[in-house]
Amino acid sequence: MVRFVSEHGPGDTAPRVAMFGGTFDPVHLGHLRSAVELRECLALDRVHMMPAHVPPHREAPGVSAAQRLAMLEAGIGDAPGLVADAQELDRDGPSYSGETLASLRRDYGERARLVMSVGMDAFLKLHQWREPQRLFELAHVVVIDRPGHRGPLPDALARLVEGREAMDAEALFRRPAGGVLHLRLPSRMAISATGLRARLAEGRSVRYLLPEAVEDYIRSRNLYR
Ligand code: ATP
Repeated sequence: MVRFVSEHGPGDTAPRVAMFGGTFDPVHLGHLRSAVELRECLALDRVHMMPAHVPPHREAPGVSAAQRLAMLEAGIGDAPGLVADAQELDRDGPSYSGETLASLRRDYGERARLVMSVGMDAFLKLHQWREPQRLFELAHVVVIDRPGHRGPLPDALARLVEGREAMDAEALFRRPAGGVLHLRLPSRMAISATGLRARLAEGRSVRYLLPEAVEDYIRSRNLYR
């Protein structure tokens, strides 16, 4: 187990940890600013940003996993509490979130408040993931509002989340796992990796949509052209 001293107050020592998974192809300010505000909003000790190896529900990206990880590391830089976590890339075969959450649960312990954060677009497909019930045994699901993506929830998803909705972080964190919280973060950004790849392929500007260090990395290796 990870020896971990939580920073959010005496008497409340259970660590608060989020997994923020994605393809990060490439990472952009919609991801990074969401991770920072998620951490602030939920008083999280750590946000594990985790590139998926073989994304089960997505096309394989056109850039190598090592390059996606390098861009994520460059993008995070020295941001407090954000870590680029390569554990899904280090595993053979497809990355299922259940396995990753189980590994975080082992690392941080039974009392840890574990969060799987997903954007609204990803949440709307949650019922199609492998063993979705198990995700709630391991973690809370925190849904980040994303411009251009809204409900209604498919019936199977509505059934899956029925009775799990928490009103706020305090209510959510009464238990280590099992709840759902919707968050409207202050700086919602209509940035998508699809849009960035299209801009790069067309030779258009991506300035201020992703960190400069990531733009430099992409330009120096002529990626996404
Ligand atoms: P693509 O356009 O290739 O689908 P993406 O921009 O959605 O990529 P992903 O790596 O697939 O990026 O996203 C990882 C996670 O981040 C998902 O849960 C997604 O919903 C969320 N996310 C992506 N962009 C934003 C954004 N602008 N605001 C909030 N959440 C986002």
